[in-house]
Amino acid sequence: MKKIIAGNHKMFTNLESSKLLATELISKNTGYDKAEVVLIPPFPFLHPVQQIIADSFLQLGAQDCSAYAEGARTGEVSASMLKSVHAQYVLIGHSERRLYCNESHDTLKMKINCALDEGLVAIYCFGENEEEFTSGQRFNVIEKQLATVFESLSNDELDHLILAYEPVWAIGTGKTATVDQAVEVHSFVRELLALKYGQDLAKSIRIIYGGSVKPNNAKELLAGLNIDGLLVGGASLNANDFSEIIQAVY
Ligand code: PEP
Repeated sequence: MKKIIAGNHKMFTNLESSKLLATELISKNTGYDKAEVVLIPPFPFLHPVQQIIADSFLQLGAQDCSAYAEGARTGEVSASMLKSVHAQYVLIGHSERRLYCNESHDTLKMKINCALDEGLVAIYCFGENEEEFTSGQRFNVIEKQLATVFESLSNDELDHLILAYEPVWAIGTGKTATVDQAVEVHSFVRELLALKYGQDLAKSIRIIYGGSVKPNNAKELLAGLNIDGLLVGGASLNANDFSEIIQAVY
């Protein structure tokens, strides 16, 4: 199973910087094939970035999709629109969207279904906030965040899901979970998957970590048991930093 490193550009970059970032990553990493690497630019830059990365090792992802297949929903972007610009991945349930856009579990389930119906790989983000972490509720919270999504998915569908553990207290804060803390959660999730879907499927689902991943902690995190890749925010906006992170895959 190849590791996956995804760079979430959030609401940063513009047309020129998105294109430059993609171009620089390609030139700095000639012949790269250690991991699947996904660039996740803002919606308007998906197509221009795709044109640059089309014949390279880089793949394309989107930051969100609508919970509906189509319709009179001004401002929304559907999974089929993403597919039409050759996106292969879509983030669903990023904590910033849960928090600022009040995305409920029901909405997230609908979004996952839309993404999977279009053949996209859904990167489903989950994780506890600071209060839940300090009060020792993190496993309960995570189990709930996962159970609500798993209940409506068949084994085949689940196989098109990547799970991204992103402790909210570590996102954009510079506070990374220790490798032990991340491994504890990733192993817990792997066990949940095994109980519900059996060992084979549990082993085939990638569980990636996100939260203040930087060039200086990527290698250590990637070596952690059950850590199948990284979701990188801030450090993915700099071609040198992101290159160091993808090169940290052994
Ligand atoms: C993210 O946006 O998913 C993320 C992990 O951000 P950062 O790396 O900046 O903490």
